[in-house]
Amino acid sequence: MDIENFLRPRGGAARAATLRGAGFSRTYLDKALASRRIIRLRRGVYSLPEEAGIFGVALRHNAVLTCLSAAPVYRLWTLNDPGAVHLSPGHHAGPPGTLIHGKCRHPRHPWLPVAGLADVLIHSLRCLPAVDSLVMVQSAAGRGDISLDFLRHKLPGNRNAGSRAILDNVIPRADSVLEVLANFHFRKAGLQVRRHVEIEGVGEVDFLIEECLIVEIDGGSHLEARQVKKGPEAKQRVSGRRPPRPEVRLRRRRPSPRADGGGRAGGT
Ligand SMILES: [Zn+2]
Repeated sequence: MDIENFLRPRGGAARAATLRGAGFSRTYLDKALASRRIIRLRRGVYSLPEEAGIFGVALRHNAVLTCLSAAPVYRLWTLNDPGAVHLSPGHHAGPPGTLIHGKCRHPRHPWLPVAGLADVLIHSLRCLPAVDSLVMVQSAAGRGDISLDFLRHKLPGNRNAGSRAILDNVIPRADSVLEVLANFHFRKAGLQVRRHVEIEGVGEVDFLIEECLIVEIDGGSHLEARQVKKGPEAKQRVSGRRPPRPEVRLRRRRPSPRADGGGRAGGT
């Protein structure tokens, strides 16, 4: 039996152990991979190209997925579904209905038909609306997977000025997508913003706007360590039922002689 006939009744995919148990040797699998009869979805899992979804699209056109279509592979935050497949076909023409991106200039994913993280982010900065690419870069930079200096260096000249401006909105510490979006829109509105400010009697707050308005963003990390460290009022609040999300709470700051809040700036 050839590997296609073995995989089709099994949903098109199988683990390496299953394949070896059925008599397909490592050498056979390597040859099947090299000739693109199968692809490796992840370590130890193989699939027929036509059963591999958008990976199969990339393989059939000798291209790699990039931009928003590659975001799930690198576990990047996203705001919207990709819709059309975002492809980098190199010197080839891309198939109709796909969004074609430029050549990849960095090492690609080690086994999937996917661009490397650097190309994925650079393509997203040139392709997507600002907030969509911002959250992707924020999640990668926040984990330390890539540095902003590296990306800036790769985006020289006037034609990349817009992309570099998006990088200026990446914040040093973001606990949720909502925090990134709030920071972006506050700054875009021309407001003076400080993040993660310690307020006496309250604790650390997410935003202090124009030195007079506290904005709390209660996102997915509502019960995580930093939030629980907030003041007594916040501790009491988080001890109960989890509130609906997202929740943005506005509080007018109580007048205080300590106008600087006594906390550190968020580095925005
Ligand atoms: Zn794109």
